Order: sequence, then structure tokens, then C-alpha cells
Amino acid sequence: MTKFIRCLIAHGALAILLLTSCTSGSQTAGDEPPPPAPTYPQFDKNSAFTYLRAQCDFGARVPGSQAHQDCLAWIAEQLRQTAETVILQEFRAATPFGGPYDFTNIIAYYPGDAEQQPVMLGAHWDCRPHADEDPDPALRTEPVMGANDGASGVAVLLEIARQAGTNSDRRPFILAFFDAEDSGKPGAAAFALDGWAIGSSYMARNMPAEIPAAEAVIVIDLVGQDDVHNERLGTPNGSNDYLDFPIERHSIESAPLLVNEIWTIAERAGHDAFVRATRGYVTDDHLPFIQQGIPAIDIIDLPHPEWHTTEDTPACCSADSLYQVGDTLLRYLYEVVE
Ligand SMILES: [Zn+2]
Repeated sequence: MTKFIRCLIAHGALAILLLTSCTSGSQTAGDEPPPPAPTYPQFDKNSAFTYLRAQCDFGARVPGSQAHQDCLAWIAEQLRQTAETVILQEFRAATPFGGPYDFTNIIAYYPGDAEQQPVMLGAHWDCRPHADEDPDPALRTEPVMGANDGASGVAVLLEIARQAGTNSDRRPFILAFFDAEDSGKPGAAAFALDGWAIGSSYMARNMPAEIPAAEAVIVIDLVGQDDVHNERLGTPNGSNDYLDFPIERHSIESAPLLVNEIWTIAERAGHDAFVRATRGYVTDDHLPFIQQGIPAIDIIDLPHPEWHTTEDTPACCSADSLYQVGDTLLRYLYEVVE
């Protein structure tokens, strides 16, 4: 055996040794690189669902009711824990159901580290006075509890306030809670507000001067529907509708880039309720801002089976549904796009 061959064998043995130690090393859990740390606060879906239940515990938050007054105080109290500024914007208005009533929009401002105009995230917090879509005619003048229609959007925004309010490494944002969204005329004409979105109309025309103007508005509405509940129990109106957020037409016409950004974030995060299909024009709280020239979009699941019926209770809602929207919006605020 020549010196050269011995040398080769020695090196070969060393190589095998190194390979072995590498292989065995890679099987040791302690040597594995840790998973990347989250770069944004995590949306706690169970906390959000607690916020949804808490609103329903007051009763139906219809205009002029004690539940409406109590819920207003409670939302403002939650926001004061983290917001820099909380504004109660009071106004008085009649609706197709009566009045005039005292109404209040709630606006909370959260400055951020990034030098950008804030984005406004909004949801309505009032309930519809009559369940006029209920399959039982005898129940059509009962109030709607609004677990999904109202409370779900508010719940998502309150959890965002709790998670993002004190972590300012993100774009600045405004949270808007619109009153008097849901007292519109049934069968209102297309493109007419007809008593819908009274609070957001007032806000869009009277943005408070003490906070910076929003560069865009993202409305969320009916974001809590529980697919499993509907699969198990069947649906009151016999439809087979499940949670989905197709692209609403006013939104894509007003703010196509923002729609694409939000839907892309949701898709990459695996939130499959966000679908690319475009579906109909919806009259909602984004419309008054569009009319004022502010880009605005609506993330909405409509129609859904319990819409404007007495079945719109926490039993038809799910924490997982709230998570799809809440996590998407947190990723947007912290610009997490993967
Ligand atoms: Zn409604």
C-alpha cells in the first residue's frame, strides 16, 4: 500500500466519520434551526369570539334600546385601553323604522412607526330592528341579535385593537365602529342608500380633524358564519351557502390594488374563504367613503343563511371564521406577505 493510498483511505474514513456525525447531528432536535419567529402579533380567535358573545349578552343592539346604549359604553371602554385617541361622534337621525334616535359612531386612532397615512378598518355595531327575512312570518318584527351581522366585525376589530394597539411596528390605523348601518328599507333600489349606512354616511362627511385622514377604508361585515353549524343543522332558508368572501363590485371598481393586496395576503396565508370570483354590488358602509372619493372595499359574506333572521345568534358563528379575516388584516397592517 503506497503512502498515497493510505492517505486516501485515511481521508475517506474521515469523510465517512464527518458524514456520520453530520447525519446523526441533523437528527438531534436541539440542533435544528428554530422556526422563524412571528413578525406580527397573533390574532387570538378565542378572544375574538369572547368579544362576539359579549356584545350579544347585552341583547339586540337596535336603535333606541338599552342594549344599544350599554354596548356603546363597552366598546368605547375596550378601545380606551390601547388607542391614542377615542372619539365618540354623536348624531341624531330618523330611519325607515322610526326615530329620530340618538346614534354614535366610535373612532379610535393608533399611530404607527411607518410614515404613512393611516388605513381605516371599519364595521357596524348596531343591529337590525326587524328580522324581516325570517322564514316564520310571525317572527319578522322581532329584532335581529346580530351575532354575525354586526358583532362578528366588531369582534375582529376589538381583537386587532388588543393585539396591534400596543405594538406600533406597523402602519398607522383607525378603527371605525359605524352606528345605524342596518335600519335600511328592505328591497332598496340599487346604488341608493335608502336608510342603510346612515352612520358611515355621517362619518364620511364629517371626519374628525384631530386625527389624520385615512388613505383607504376596509369594511368587514358578516365575517363570522360557521360552516360546520350550517352543514349539521341545515339552513333556515334551505340554501347551501358557506363562508366565502368573493370580490364585491364597488370595491374592485374603487380600489383594485387594495383588493388585490388583501386577497393575495389571504391566499398566501391559506385563508380559503377569500375567493377571486367577483359577485354583485353590495350597499354597505364602504359606499359613503367611495362617494367622498376615498378608496374603500368591503369584505363581506352575503348572502348567508341566517341573514336578517332570528337565527343570527352566536350558535351560527365560529372563531375559525373570525380568524381568517383577523389574521389577514393583521398581516396587512404589519406587511406580512407570505
Ligand atoms: Zn344587516
